[in-house]
Amino acid sequence: MARDNTADFIALETQYGAANYRPLDVVLTRGEGVHVWDVEGRRYIDCLSAYSAVNQGHCHPKILAALTRQAQQLTLTSRAFRNDQLGAFYEELCALTHSHKALPMNSGAEAVETALKVARKWGYTVKGVPQDQAEIIVCRDNFHGRTLTIVGFSTDPAARRDFGPFTPGFRIVPFGDIKALEAAITPFTVAFLVEPIQGEAGVILPPPGYFKAVRALCSTRNVILILDEIQTGLGRTGKLLAEEHEAIEADLTLIGKALSGGFYPVSAVLSNAEVMDVLHPGEHGSTFGGNPLACAVARAALKVLIEEGMIENAMRMGSYLKTGFEALHSPLFKEVRGRGLMLAVELLPEAGGARGYCEALQRRGILCKETHEHTIRIAPPLIITKSEVDEVLDAFVAVFSRDPVSA
Ligand SMILES: *Cc1c(COP(=O)(O)O)cnc(C)c1O
Repeated sequence: MARDNTADFIALETQYGAANYRPLDVVLTRGEGVHVWDVEGRRYIDCLSAYSAVNQGHCHPKILAALTRQAQQLTLTSRAFRNDQLGAFYEELCALTHSHKALPMNSGAEAVETALKVARKWGYTVKGVPQDQAEIIVCRDNFHGRTLTIVGFSTDPAARRDFGPFTPGFRIVPFGDIKALEAAITPFTVAFLVEPIQGEAGVILPPPGYFKAVRALCSTRNVILILDEIQTGLGRTGKLLAEEHEAIEADLTLIGKALSGGFYPVSAVLSNAEVMDVLHPGEHGSTFGGNPLACAVARAALKVLIEEGMIENAMRMGSYLKTGFEALHSPLFKEVRGRGLMLAVELLPEAGGARGYCEALQRRGILCKETHEHTIRIAPPLIITKSEVDEVLDAFVAVFSRDPVSA
């Protein structure tokens, strides 16, 4: 069977694949920088960046070179032996993020699980919480991944329905509500886990001053502040870490996604020495975590992020793009929000849902993804140029000045 058109590829996926996603009907075969090409040869600007995993742009040549070089040298040793990439990765990552210690994992969800384990252990061995009583506070509308423990403290019915029973020991408070957080802290509270900007919830920013108050509260009540920067981190918001916008420092910071520039799953927990030092040999691990291929890829991904000025570009192009959306004055827009190149346009309910508009944008060469019913998320690679931003804006102008069916 000739598998060279979109419908054939989709039919294969539908026949053999689990139906746990509802992707746009575009089948991609190549990527370079901000662009991707489908199997029919059409070119698009990628405005999702694999949920911010390809901040550095698709197939960045320097990350690719590091990957191929290391793949010919040594890929996996397990942590039973040492490898010559891990130490340098730690050193560069810690210097860049002002951390004392790092723990490498693979997926974002594993980094979250790791932080939860470390926080509990710290609670029992340092804070003195009685065994099995530790509580961790999380936010309503959070997104931290898909493992059973993590979906157990999700408030999204689709994420948790029919997957119980769940891990106990979590409390949920509204995001951005410092009074609610204060009221939820007990002597058994070991940590507060929160996203600097709630990405999957629709790019929700907290009220100004919230994180300053959170930091102060966690310090006075001896609670570990865990910031999940898996999506906001590594330049996406126009700073290396989104916590810099708030002028705070977390006790544990989680990064993933763009840590490999989209080549390979690499995540990490960053920490001060006091918290991370509660872990001893045998208490946690991962066969692939910290492998030399992952370390070499991550070192290159971090290097190009800094050296090629991607973080500053995210700040500049982000505000240019946001201003452009605002200047559209579309009667269908409820709100334009975000920071850096982590942006969202929320449509009014009358617009009839974001999906149709994403499909209309696709026909105009722009790939965006709806989040929830009414929000379009816009998060292109951080290397996007001004003229490419203009192309994105032109497509939005065309789509939002007429109804999506004819656009
Ligand atoms: C994507 C994401 C995760 C989960 O990462 P995976 O690599 O998909 O497991 C966790 N937290 C946030 C904020 C994310 O955006």
